[in-house]
Amino acid sequence: MDPTVSRTVSPPLLHLVGVGKRYPGTPPVVSLDGVDLAVHQGELLAVVGPSGSGKSTLLHLMAALDRPSAGEVRITGVDVARLPDRVVAGIRAHQVGVVFQQFHLIDSLTAVDNVATGLLYRGVPAHRRRRLARRALERVGLADRLGHRPSQLSGGERQRVAIARAVVGRPSVVLADEPTGNLDSRSGAEILALLADLHREGTTLVVVTHDAAVARRMRRRVELRDGAVVADTRQAGDR
Ligand code: ADP
Ligand code: MG
Repeated sequence: MDPTVSRTVSPPLLHLVGVGKRYPGTPPVVSLDGVDLAVHQGELLAVVGPSGSGKSTLLHLMAALDRPSAGEVRITGVDVARLPDRVVAGIRAHQVGVVFQQFHLIDSLTAVDNVATGLLYRGVPAHRRRRLARRALERVGLADRLGHRPSQLSGGERQRVAIARAVVGRPSVVLADEPTGNLDSRSGAEILALLADLHREGTTLVVVTHDAAVARRMRRRVELRDGAVVADTRQAGDR
């Protein structure tokens, strides 16, 4: 790693230091063990590894959706592991957008209202939430599907709604867990192109994938095996 001046001046957006995660049981499951990882503003990186290697666990910790058993998870320099839930929720709402393989949309809500939920914890008034949601849906190419419910949308369209929800609050970083895993190859390629657009426009993006073709499109690749980082490589030409 070859830090540029800007990287040394500003702290990483995400910084995991000695992070471990174990689930109680007999025997306990060690899902992550001693993970050190820094993600800087503007990066596009893939987290790869076989099923069960800890990718989703890592993403949940980076999104502050879960707490580590050991180590520090710093989001814009703040260690969220030790903060009360209420404070963590506020940091998450402002800094992090998440996209899941299974979309996790609310079936009873229209596309606009699903996206507007991405602003619920930011104190944005309702009418403004819907206006921003409409704009985010236009941004992902769904201007003509605003009033559709998830059941009336294709898989690729549902994932676009989920991406719109993730970015509507203009988070510092977007984390995606197997975002193309439930899609046919064409819809998957469209979703990847959309994510690449977001990155070009300045969104820091972490994509968890076990798909080698997806990972090849990312500049930086972090490889997990049995809960540990076994490789962290950058393509030539990356700053
Ligand atoms: P991946 O996303 O790479 O497939 P995961 O992070 O989902 O891997 O899981 C890593 C390991 O942690 C697996 O062995 C999994 O069974 C275990 N694990 C994940 N979540 C839990 C949980 N809530 N309780 C117990 N074990 C879990
Ligand atoms: Mg997973």
